[in-house]
Amino acid sequence: MNLDALPPIEAGPRADRLRAQFPEAGVDALLVTRLPNVRYLTGFTGSAATLLVRPDELVFVTDGRYGEQAAGQLEAAGVAARIEVGTTQAAQRAALEASVDGTARLGLEAHGVTWAQQRDYAEWFGTTELVPTKQLVEQQRLVKEPAEVARIRAACAIGDEALGAVAPRLAGRPTEREVGLWLELEMRERGASGNSFDPIVASGPNGAMPHARPSARHIEPGELVVLDFGCIVDGYCSDMTRTVSVGAPSPDAAHLYDVVLQAQQAGRDAVRADATCADVDHACREIIDAAGLGHTFVHATGHGVGLEIHEAPRVAATARDTLTAGSVVTVEPGVYLPGVGGVRIEDTVVVLDDTDLGAEALTGFPKELVL
Ligand code: ZN
Ligand code: ZN
Repeated sequence: MNLDALPPIEAGPRADRLRAQFPEAGVDALLVTRLPNVRYLTGFTGSAATLLVRPDELVFVTDGRYGEQAAGQLEAAGVAARIEVGTTQAAQRAALEASVDGTARLGLEAHGVTWAQQRDYAEWFGTTELVPTKQLVEQQRLVKEPAEVARIRAACAIGDEALGAVAPRLAGRPTEREVGLWLELEMRERGASGNSFDPIVASGPNGAMPHARPSARHIEPGELVVLDFGCIVDGYCSDMTRTVSVGAPSPDAAHLYDVVLQAQQAGRDAVRADATCADVDHACREIIDAAGLGHTFVHATGHGVGLEIHEAPRVAATARDTLTAGSVVTVEPGVYLPGVGGVRIEDTVVVLDDTDLGAEALTGFPKELVL
């Protein structure tokens, strides 16, 4: 995987697209505190920063560890900002106070601000009215730019290759934990910076828990094994689940697998620009319901993937979102039978401009049950 050939991320124009939402949100400026959103708007990857988006400038406040890194990363991303490095909390507060001064209505990210932060801001910013806003940056992040899709595509390809390298070793009765470690190692050796979440390796009855943690249990021939994992490439996540069996599974297990495979294909076929997320969920659920297994499909069908492993939109029965070209979502129906085991099959797909073509799967590992 040649990760050096990825197209550059141009973060510069993103702040203007955010500002265009200010009138509708009823704010004059926005204080961005969620780190994935700070990264999206500036390219900054550190662990401490606050970004004030004013109509006429960006003010980037960070602490003494990150001054040099921030200057380099913002410049590389094509972002012009006034960078304020406060080596003490008091200095950071003073920089923010001075920059907010004169703003009538300041938007806060309501879902990302703690109660304590809100109380602090109310004290610091005096007469400025604090206005809760709802996922303004996340709404923008819904539609991925080609350079973002390229990173998710690379992360998915690394996941495919890692599973290809690990699958032949499942026949040697490894423990679930060993398989999780191997997947991570194979992904990192191919250039991933880390897991997008801790791998799920759930064999036999453990597969009945959708988010089982890998245990010291040995994987036995003929058992269903749920493998759900992903990695990060330049900040962007991948997510894939395959269910496999080393050697012939029981007829009951093979039947469960066929039902989920059909449901997953139906869900993938339903993903297209202008489809609702609820429609995609329904397409999967209908097939699992018809097989009498509806009560065992105990989670939503999917989620958005990008800078965060779980981001908007939710692909669920109650979701009101409509899919847009450029959105990246997962389709991951599953069935879970306590005491028996589980099956889940998941692809990460990108919604295409052409509604006839629907969506393209970025994860491509074959869906063969028997290894
Ligand atoms: Zn997953
Ligand atoms: Zn997922």
